[in-house]
Amino acid sequence: MSDTRSLRTSGAAALATTRVTVDTLADIGRELMRARATAAAHEPAPPAHGLVVDVGGGQAPHPRADVVVDKYVADDFERPGGEQLDLSKPLVIADAAALPFADRAFAYVIASHVLEHATDPAGFAAQFMRIAPAGFVQVPSRESELVFGWQFHPWLIDLEGETLVFEARGDRRAHCGEVLHRSFSDSALFRAWWASTRAQWHHSVEWRETLHVRVEGASTADRTASFGVDRTVRALRDARARGALQPLSDALRDVLRCPVCGTPLTWAEESVTCADGTHAYPVAGGVPVLLEEAAGAGGG
Ligand SMILES: [Zn+2]
Repeated sequence: MSDTRSLRTSGAAALATTRVTVDTLADIGRELMRARATAAAHEPAPPAHGLVVDVGGGQAPHPRADVVVDKYVADDFERPGGEQLDLSKPLVIADAAALPFADRAFAYVIASHVLEHATDPAGFAAQFMRIAPAGFVQVPSRESELVFGWQFHPWLIDLEGETLVFEARGDRRAHCGEVLHRSFSDSALFRAWWASTRAQWHHSVEWRETLHVRVEGASTADRTASFGVDRTVRALRDARARGALQPLSDALRDVLRCPVCGTPLTWAEESVTCADGTHAYPVAGGVPVLLEEAAGAGGG
């Protein structure tokens, strides 16, 4: 008797759950539609013609990018089980604070999740505007920083009209951030909710001529990635040995400049030297390492 009743009870409960689930599925469907409707506003819109550079896009370069600029290849290679660098595009090792390219070398610059790492976001923005007349920038919002949080980011960022406003993070941290990062990677429903409320989490700016940035105060991150010239050269040589690296086209070589003095570069097998012979940089696996800290005295 009691067995039958408990069966009936659980059957009714299951039915109730099913009804809720159907309603919930309809809600989820609407959220996904909303996510899809707003997704394009958070994607770069590069022109069909002209050179396109993806700054900091090492893990997932934009399909339209002709070249990727990244700095921390060795860290990525060495991170066990971590996200690997995508080497399907030609690569230049450089710092966004001193981009090794001629003025207006590109038609468009993509910088997705780069500015929030900068100790000098206005300096990065000035570099983007120098090398291209237009581009796309995406950064996490203040809300994203306070809810999820990343130790490498020194800022809380707001979008006021067309201006990205950087405020020093101070001691404000995302105290439950780990739980939310875990939910994001574990739960499709959580990601659907996140995507349907995307404008809360990302500021995406498509700029032309001027990228408006205002920085309030100075700030540094809790943690910063370490860079080593030797490690980087070794990692690049290993990648070339695996056949992983793409060669730079002549068009790209033509627009490369010394990151310190801005003069054109002369190529040799294992190094490049700037026009006045003051700075020489290693080339490993065909990839130039154009960083001030990698510059040796030129042979000039
Ligand atoms: Zn130089």
